Amino acid sequence: MLPSLHSVTPTGLQDQLKAWGEPVFRCNQVLDWLYRKRVGSLEEMYNCPKALRQRLGDAYRFALPRCQQVQGSADTTRKYLWRLEDGALVESVLIPANPALYGEASDRHTLCVSTQVGCAYGCRFCASGLDGWKRNLEVHEIVGQLLAIEIHCREELSEGQDRKVNNLVIMGMGEPMANYDNLMKALDIINAPWGCHIGARKITLSTSGLAPQIEQLASQPHQYRLAISLHGATDEVRSRIMPVNRKYPLPTLMQACESYVRAKGKMITFEYILIEGVNDGDDQIQPLARWAQQLHAKVNLIPYNHVEGLRWKRPDVATQETFLQGLLQLGVKATLRREKGHDIDAACGQLRLKVEREEHPQGHPS
Ligand code: SAH
Ligand code: SF4
Repeated sequence: MLPSLHSVTPTGLQDQLKAWGEPVFRCNQVLDWLYRKRVGSLEEMYNCPKALRQRLGDAYRFALPRCQQVQGSADTTRKYLWRLEDGALVESVLIPANPALYGEASDRHTLCVSTQVGCAYGCRFCASGLDGWKRNLEVHEIVGQLLAIEIHCREELSEGQDRKVNNLVIMGMGEPMANYDNLMKALDIINAPWGCHIGARKITLSTSGLAPQIEQLASQPHQYRLAISLHGATDEVRSRIMPVNRKYPLPTLMQACESYVRAKGKMITFEYILIEGVNDGDDQIQPLARWAQQLHAKVNLIPYNHVEGLRWKRPDVATQETFLQGLLQLGVKATLRREKGHDIDAACGQLRLKVEREEHPQGHPS
């Protein structure tokens, strides 16, 4: 299969263009079409000679994800289901900034992207892992989610606005750290001034706690933000809902987080879904506060989003508030997220699972 055009490095492209006898400026011109003007096909690169477009088409695939379904509207959380070249489905979620909450302009958006088809980590509460893991996403499939969204939203941009997405969170389907190399290459393109040009501080990686990869990321120069899906403050509770905790128990995970914080001098976030009767009790508040203080981390409490077929529930509002107040009283920086998109299966993996099961009602797709 031909390499994808959206995964070549500028050096690789430059070398290829040089070999074809193209002038030096062509490389920037092509990158400009791909990432700044964000074309949906080679034909749209109208100031590139037709012969060159032909050559590019013969040497590379132009393969952006195809939009299979969109849920939600322009000013709410919107969920995209993509069909990839091999027929696999993945999701991205576009979330508008809440001006009342963050004081940001309301035209700012955060995009949540997927990194794998399915997930091998099998957290008990999560839809993404329910049918297991299928494959890693390729570099262009990660970058492609952002580009395809921008293309889809082009008509909605207001005067002077050149793009929809300002923030990126790697919190969609899959475990980003288990697709480390492809993700890093994709983020290089997303972050680069010649690429999508989203600042490293506007990119957050979320992980269920793969300690070795956290250490690896700590030793690299990138300034991405890190979020840890904690969901349990003791090994006993965490291992019950997140099998990964048996491999990297809390002391190991926290050591890796400490390396990250030390290397980057940045605050990390603990994501903590509140699940009724599982991790929302008083017994978790003290240990959670201790970890947060040790790491200077902030805690983001998220009421559990119901997943069809799973028995877990979100606690009532009073329990959520009690948990939050418990942390605040211990001096922890904590917020309780009234998450958006509750009504459109916004938690990762849910829409894909639903459609997969409609398409393959007999069982799991191969
Ligand atoms: N695999 C990575 C990133 C994807 S999951 C990770 O686990 O961090 C992104 C976030 O969505 C995680 O914090 C995950 O725990 C959370 N999540 C999964 N299912 C959820 C649900 N039903 N309700 C609320 N959050 C959920
Ligand atoms: Fe995978 Fe993250 Fe879901 Fe766990 S929470 S199953 S690691 S996607």
